[in-house]
Amino acid sequence: MTNKPSITFQVTARDGDARAGVITTRRGEIETPVFMPVGTAGTVKGIRFEALETELDARIILGNTYHLWLRPGIEVIRGCGGLHRFMSWQRPLLTDSGGFQVWSLGDLRKISEEGTEFRSHVDGSLQFLSPEVSMQVQAALGSDIVMAFDECAEGEASIETARTSMELTARWAQRSRAEFDRLQADGSDTGRTDANETLSGGQALFGIVQGASQLDLRRESLHRTMEIGFDGYAIGGLSVGEAKSVMWRVVDAVTPDMPSDRPRYLMGVGTPEDLLEAVSRGIDMFDCVLPTRNGRTGQAFTSRGKVNVKNAQWAVDTKPLDEDCECSVCRRHSRAYLRHLYQSGEMLAGVLLTHHNLAFFLDTMRRVRQSIRSGEFPKFRQAFTEKLNEHEQKNALINA
Ligand SMILES: [Zn+2]
Repeated sequence: MTNKPSITFQVTARDGDARAGVITTRRGEIETPVFMPVGTAGTVKGIRFEALETELDARIILGNTYHLWLRPGIEVIRGCGGLHRFMSWQRPLLTDSGGFQVWSLGDLRKISEEGTEFRSHVDGSLQFLSPEVSMQVQAALGSDIVMAFDECAEGEASIETARTSMELTARWAQRSRAEFDRLQADGSDTGRTDANETLSGGQALFGIVQGASQLDLRRESLHRTMEIGFDGYAIGGLSVGEAKSVMWRVVDAVTPDMPSDRPRYLMGVGTPEDLLEAVSRGIDMFDCVLPTRNGRTGQAFTSRGKVNVKNAQWAVDTKPLDEDCECSVCRRHSRAYLRHLYQSGEMLAGVLLTHHNLAFFLDTMRRVRQSIRSGEFPKFRQAFTEKLNEHEQKNALINA
C-alpha cells in the first residue's frame, strides 16, 4: 500500500446509482463522470491542444504506453522531460498499460508467466512487455494516472481460460504494484515537474478487473485487486465484441462491490448511449476512440443520432451538423460544406468532424454531471435518448 494517496476522489452528488464527483490530481481537478479523449501516440488525432484546452475544456486525455514505448521510445521522451513536456500538455494524463494493445496482436504474441513477447508493428523487432517494463515505461512517460499491466481474455472465453487469465492478471497486478512503488520511491517518475515547478504528488495507480463474461470470476478479480490496494479501479476486457447485455451484466456484477470512495473506470466504452447507461450504473470514467476515429471516416455523432457526411442527402444542406451543438464547427459550417470536404479528401474534413464529435461527447458529459447534481439524471437521460432515437428511426426510413 502507498502511504499518501496521489489522487483524491470526492463524490459530490448522487442520483440513484449515478454519481458526480471530483478527482484531484497533481495537475488539477477532473469533474466526473468524465470522458477522456484518446491520445494514442502523444496526440489526440486531428485536433490541436489549444482546442482541447480552451473550447472543449478536456481535463484529462489518454496516452498509449505500447505506441509511445515503440516510437519514439522512452529515451526520447525522458530526454524531453516526460510526456507532458514533450507534447506540451500540462493537464492530467492517463496512460494505459500496453496490455490491451499487445493482446490485440492476437497470434503475433506469446504470453508466459513473466510477460508477453511480441513483434513490434513498427519494425518487426522482437519485444517483451511485462508488469515491470510497463511500470518503467509509464514512469518515464510521467503520466498522472498509471494503469496496472493486465491480461485480457476473449469475451466468450471458457471458464477455465477466463480463470487462468484472471489469475495471471491478479499476479501481474501484484507485480505492477511492487514495481510502481519502487519507481515512485527512487524518483523515476518524470512527471514530477511541469513547466514551472516541482509538483507535490506522485503518480496514481489503478487496478484492472478481468474475468471475461464469468460473473463469479469478475467478482473474485475485483476482490483480489482490492486486496492489493489501488487508487482507482477499472473494468477491463469489455467492449471487445461481446453482446451489450453481457457488458451490462458484468458491470452490474462488479460495481456494487467496488469501493465507493475510489473512481470507477469502464475501459474502452463507448457510444453516447453506452456512457449514459454506464453512468446510471455508477461508473465515473470512460475512454473511447469512437469520436476521433469515426470523425476521420466521415461520421458525426449528434443529438439526433449519427450523421454520415458522405451521404448524398446532405449535398445542398445548409444546416449545421447538429442544430443544438454550440461548437465552433456547428456555428460556422454546413453539412453540405463538410460533405464536400470529405468527398474531396480534404484533411480539414477529419479535423472538423473530430472537433465536433469531441465537443458533443464532452458537452454530453457536462450535461450529465449537471443533471446528477440537480437530481434530474433520469429525466435528462430519457429526453436525450428519445431525441437520439427519433432521428435514428427517421434515418432508417430514408435509407430503407
Ligand atoms: Zn458541433
